Amino acid sequence: MRVKVAEEWLNICGGCEVSILDIGEPLLDILPKLEFVHMPVLMDHKYFGQTGEKTEMEIPKADIGIISGGMRNEKEKHVAEEMRKKTKTLIALGSCACFGGIPALANMYTLDSLYDKVYRGSKTTDSADTPTENLPALLDRVYAIDELVEVDVYIPGCPTNPDLIAQALIALLEDKPFEMPERSVCDDCPLKREKKAAGGEIKRSLASAEFNQDEPWENTRCLMEQGFLCLGPVTRSGCARPVEGGPKVPRCIIGYMPCRGCFGPVHKGANPMVDMMGAMSSIGLDVKQVPDRRALLNRYIGGQKRLRPLPQRPGR
Ligand code: SF4
Ligand code: SF4
Ligand code: SF4
Repeated sequence: MRVKVAEEWLNICGGCEVSILDIGEPLLDILPKLEFVHMPVLMDHKYFGQTGEKTEMEIPKADIGIISGGMRNEKEKHVAEEMRKKTKTLIALGSCACFGGIPALANMYTLDSLYDKVYRGSKTTDSADTPTENLPALLDRVYAIDELVEVDVYIPGCPTNPDLIAQALIALLEDKPFEMPERSVCDDCPLKREKKAAGGEIKRSLASAEFNQDEPWENTRCLMEQGFLCLGPVTRSGCARPVEGGPKVPRCIIGYMPCRGCFGPVHKGANPMVDMMGAMSSIGLDVKQVPDRRALLNRYIGGQKRLRPLPQRPGR
């Protein structure tokens, strides 16, 4: 008998659904064992009947539930709760589902100032209005799935790594647990570390790192030691993929770009900001030199505790 899967996308961009398709050939092996009973990205499914005649939300029962995206409004919360009721094992797919992701940057600001900025402040809308008709009410902030609904399996990443989705599905098909190891991106990184900074100022990530792509990976100096704020030491491993038959390399490092932390903390309860300051100090980088330090602090300790109005644009 095939294993039933229900998939939902909530407050997202769709990139994590592309990761499912990007599983590639292993997907062909898994697909015959799966039956997708609900997946709005692929199949039309009306939640309240074809003509909206039903009063109860209809999501079919499934063995595995997958949710990408966090929750921004009441409808998304309702869908997540329904998915929890209807599925035996619930997977939070991608960093939006696991942590709130990029949309949760809005949690730094009050709901009212967001309305002012993105709706009432526009030249084409009514500056005194707050749209409510035929729209689900916004929640007070963006929520990760497990803040309101119990989650069984976490697959972070923005977008996540297709290999991890395949590994999780195969494990669940074999009735085995799936959990990612508590390792850091640095543990997968082949760049050369000398345990001390190369000197000079801390650089913005848009500056170009020193590298020669014709040379082996281990001939390029660690980007943090080059002075870039690479979040590899405090970010969970999982994004690395093999490059041209060689070793696995973290996704951003393949492009000689510093890690921006998209796989989230190495383990639950970690304090990445404090750990990052420790990692920087340990190689002699001065934390006080970090450009945009305030934005960085907001990212890590922001959320609902630091809600404040958005700054006004001139002329508004
Ligand atoms: S985790 Fe990233 S790729 Fe996935 S839905 Fe969120 S923003 Fe898109
Ligand atoms: S800090 Fe960045 S560049 Fe350096 S080893 Fe870690 S992941 Fe690689
Ligand atoms: S290197 Fe960091 S930011 Fe880039 S994909 Fe991996 S975890 Fe995400």
